[in-house]
Amino acid sequence: MKILLIEDEVKTVQSIKQGLEEHQWEVDVAYDGILGFQLATRSPYALIISDIILPGMNGLELCRKLRESNIATPILMLTALGTTDDKIVGLDAGADDYLVKPFVFGELMARVRALTRRTHHTLQSSNVLKIADLELNTDTKTVTRAGREISLTAKEFQLLEYFLRHQGRVISKVELAERLWDLTFDTGTNVIEVYINFLRKKIDKDFNPKLLHTQIGMGYVVKLVS
Ligand code: CA
Repeated sequence: MKILLIEDEVKTVQSIKQGLEEHQWEVDVAYDGILGFQLATRSPYALIISDIILPGMNGLELCRKLRESNIATPILMLTALGTTDDKIVGLDAGADDYLVKPFVFGELMARVRALTRRTHHTLQSSNVLKIADLELNTDTKTVTRAGREISLTAKEFQLLEYFLRHQGRVISKVELAERLWDLTFDTGTNVIEVYINFLRKKIDKDFNPKLLHTQIGMGYVVKLVS
């Protein structure tokens, strides 16, 4: 499988491409957002790595358009901006993870491994996971609640799948960070809270009973509270 790299800085492209190729990845490169979008919709990729500030179409718009086109390929955003708001906007646009420039290559590879491993893993398992009137289908990558289809990003889907595979168990932020983001928890990221909020809005906000619960100081649990 290939990785699509969308980045306009030639030096950054060269170093990332070379590094990925040393790790046996084939890499396609787009130097602007429009070509990036075209490539991403034409052929399957294991992962898309995209800068935010790009000519043609910026990374956030690209991300949004890909998700609107039902392209579920994991997306790793590279951002030089680095404020929490920018990250949240990136994740809200449908990115699965982000990395703030400048970064060390090892950090990028850790994210690449995490994002691509989970793609392969979820492609192989086949199942319908259920709680109450919520259903998640790992074959078709669809989620419904009370028969209504709920649109989740790839990352939100993985998070929900993880909760549904461990129903009733309180899962700590540390565990989620390690299992789903390949992060050690001392990085000070609030990515978990951000995603829990996204997921809760989609699966619980307009429905009853609530399924995703916060156990203060301990973590989160998906269960039916009677
Ligand atoms: Ca750029």
